[in-house]
Amino acid sequence: MERLEKRLRELRPALELRVNEPMSRHTTFRIGGPAALMALPKSVSEAKMVLQAARELGVEPFFLGNGSNLLVSDEGYPGFVMKLSGRYSVDELNRVWEANHLLVTGGAVLLSSLSGCALGRNLTGLEFAGGIPGSVGGAVTMNAGAYGGEMAQVLESVTFLDEAGEVCTLPASECGFGYRHSIFSDRKCLILKARFHLDQGDPAAIKARMEELAGKRREKQPLEYPSAGSMFKRPPGHFAAALIDQCGLKGLAVGGAQVSEKHAGFVVNRGGATCADVLALVDQVKEEVLRQTGVELEMEVKVLR
Ligand SMILES: Cc1cc2nc3c(=O)[nH]c(=O)nc-3n(C[C@H](O)[C@H](O)[C@H](O)COP(=O)(O)OP(=O)(O)OC[C@H]3O[C@@H](n4cnc5c(N)ncnc54)[C@H](O)[C@@H]3O)c2cc1C
Repeated sequence: MERLEKRLRELRPALELRVNEPMSRHTTFRIGGPAALMALPKSVSEAKMVLQAARELGVEPFFLGNGSNLLVSDEGYPGFVMKLSGRYSVDELNRVWEANHLLVTGGAVLLSSLSGCALGRNLTGLEFAGGIPGSVGGAVTMNAGAYGGEMAQVLESVTFLDEAGEVCTLPASECGFGYRHSIFSDRKCLILKARFHLDQGDPAAIKARMEELAGKRREKQPLEYPSAGSMFKRPPGHFAAALIDQCGLKGLAVGGAQVSEKHAGFVVNRGGATCADVLALVDQVKEEVLRQTGVELEMEVKVLR
């Protein structure tokens, strides 16, 4: 990592680089030890340069979005993390604009802003995304979805830096979207931009739907505690939360990690939870659900170690 740090500082002294950066600052779970090195490129050209330098030294970065589907080890991540800098971006990475009847957005944009921009333009189709606390890059990778909508339904195309560092664009139909999955879940590509085909709608109806869904989230989800959302994927033919509840596991805790009393599909950080606490709790839940119902739960949240 030192060689990469030195190389990046030589190439671009102004690049934002952090050594031993606590990942707890970058995850909605507020859990995770330090990443050995983190770069926060502010533009597409900076991201391209960083990626090329890393790969020349044989380092494959982990691409971080808003860290809302991520559990990072207590020991941290010994590798290199690249996070598109939303707040300080100097180009399209954090912008939303319209082109050729499509809504175009940079990969660092948060879904809450994106759905707000769609509302501001009287465009319907992204109401479902307003309460998902991810970035466009993370949401495309995960094919994030809620309340009957998912990214795949509204995406027209995705632009990314591929494994060779080239800028490529793929139509949504070639992105291999499935349940919480896309080709980007398996490939080493950095998502830079996404285009959405949305319909003109009635602004009052769009706003009402967004408020209705936000209300449902407040009512059903433990938004008062740090978490990474639903801990488990939906098993075919079942709902993870219902199975966990049925097995009497609501409120089960290991250290600071707890199966939410409000929504059994969420594991929450009640204060001071470690990654080890969460993983031990997940093991207990999986074991008990399998024993009582015969259904095998699979984690939706990604683990970085
Ligand atoms: C309270 C709460 C509620 C949630 N509700 C929902 C919900 O309703 N529906 C839902 O689907 N999810 C939900 N989630 C989970 C999460 O918000 C989504 O999965 C979201 O899409 C993750 O985006 P992110 O930017 O945080 O990605 P991260 O967690 O940072 O990363 C997730 C994956 O995407 C990759 N990635 C991130 N950015 C890029 C990029 N630019 N290029 C390439 N790869 C990238 C990462 O490498 C990683 O593999 C919820 C989470 C919380 C905390």
